[in-house]
Formats: sequence, C-alpha cells, structure tokens
Amino acid sequence: MCRAILWDIKLLKVKNLNKSFKAFLLLTGLSICIMLSALAVLSQLYRYSTKNAYELILLILMMLTIIIIMLTAVSTIAVYYAYSKGRVGKAFLWLPRTGLRLLLPFIMPTAKLLSFDKEDVRRFYIDVNNILVRSGNISCEPKDVLLLLPHCLQHSGCWYKITSDIRNCRKCGKCCIGEILEVAEGNGINAAVATGGTIARNIIFSSKPKLVLSVACERDLASGIADVKKFPVLGIINERPNGPCNNTVVDVDKIKEQLEEVLGN
Ligand code: SF4
Repeated sequence: MCRAILWDIKLLKVKNLNKSFKAFLLLTGLSICIMLSALAVLSQLYRYSTKNAYELILLILMMLTIIIIMLTAVSTIAVYYAYSKGRVGKAFLWLPRTGLRLLLPFIMPTAKLLSFDKEDVRRFYIDVNNILVRSGNISCEPKDVLLLLPHCLQHSGCWYKITSDIRNCRKCGKCCIGEILEVAEGNGINAAVATGGTIARNIIFSSKPKLVLSVACERDLASGIADVKKFPVLGIINERPNGPCNNTVVDVDKIKEQLEEVLGN
C-alpha cells in the first residue's frame, strides 16, 4: 500500500516536472521566434533604409530622451516639494505619487552602480510615501486599520505561535510584541504577524484594510509599499541591534503616534 502511494507521488513529481519543462520549452521557443522576427524586420529596414530614415530614427530617439528627462525633472521637483513641505494638497497628490513610482526603478540601479547605500534610498522612499499617505487625510474606523508586524520582533526563544494569532502572546515582556498587542487591543484594531513578504501581502489582500500600519526593515517596507499600491501603507522602520531578522525592536510610541493620527483620537 505504502509502496503504491510512494510510486504515485514519484509519478506525480515526474508529471509536474514534464509540465514545467514543456512550459519552459514553449516560452523559450516563442521568445526565439519573436527575436528572429525582429531580426528579419531590422535587416529589411537596414537593406532599404536611406539617410533620411536614419536621421528620422535619431530624431525620434532624441525626442524620447527629452521626454524622459522632462518627466524625471518634474517628478524630482514634485517629490522634493512633498518632502520639504511635509504635506501636499489633496488635488496635487497624484504628481509626487506618480513621480515616486517613476523615479524608483531608475534610482535603485543607479545607486547600485555608484555603490550608494540602498538603505538610504529606501528610507527616503518610505518617508515620502508616509507624507503622501498622511496628506490624503485618511481617517479610519479601528476595524479598517491593519497593524502588520514582522516575525523577527518576537523573542527568538519564545515558543508561542503568534504568527497564526498574535493573541497567543502571553505578554511576558521579553519582546515588544506584548506591548504592541496591548496597543492594538486598546485601540480595537486588527494586528497580524507575517513571516515574510508574500504572507504579508496575502494578509493585506484578504483583509482589505482601509489603511495598513506596517513595521519592517527598509527593504521589506519599500518592496511591500510598491507591491500593494491599492492600499495606503504607513511604514515604521524597525531597529536591528542584533543584526537583521533577529530579535529586532520597534519604538512602540511611534506606533501609538501613527494610530492617534489615523484614528483621529
Ligand atoms: S512578549 Fe509575547 S511574543 Fe514576546 S516573548 Fe513574551 S510571549 Fe513571546
């Protein structure tokens, strides 16, 4: 009986492997076909093109470059304005918001290329995002707020399964989860602990809060904010006195302040 089951599992694995391998072959085959078609079109253009055609292509490239430079300049000014003022009028919120989304994909590779500290860039992104979320004057009912916490805030020696339900915490005081739980219960908001980015996103998409108050490191916060565009996220960066992902801490007063603001207490 057991052998039969094991055999079935093996067969299933081979079947799955074949399925993924087929998909891989199909996609690579299609990609090669698309590239060959592009090569055929380019070779025909090369064969029959004139000097005027080359000049036209150069002109189009120049125009595109000018448009990109103008968009980058406008985005930079809009983001700078939001950051320096600390608030943006509701009617103009879309401008720095779009600017931030346009600039980030350019800035991150440039920062990597020039060996800039990427954490600084992410911190700036989180700060500007918080300003934009606050500028939207979001005022929520407690039930519409989700407080999302990283698993690394829990003391590494604690056995209580707070990832399935944060209320399993015994508030022993060894880590800040107990104090945060008291704040969440006191304000009547939902709180959850996520073990990773995918789970955090799933929690947000399934609970559909009006506002997410999220504690995480710069990298997780920046990528999370960018991934759940539909949901406003106020980010609070955790501190890592023991290195990344190990017994991290957060200033609970910052959580209280943010909650007071969004709940209008
Ligand atoms: S406060 Fe809660 S989560 Fe932290 S160690 Fe104590 S029981 Fe565990």
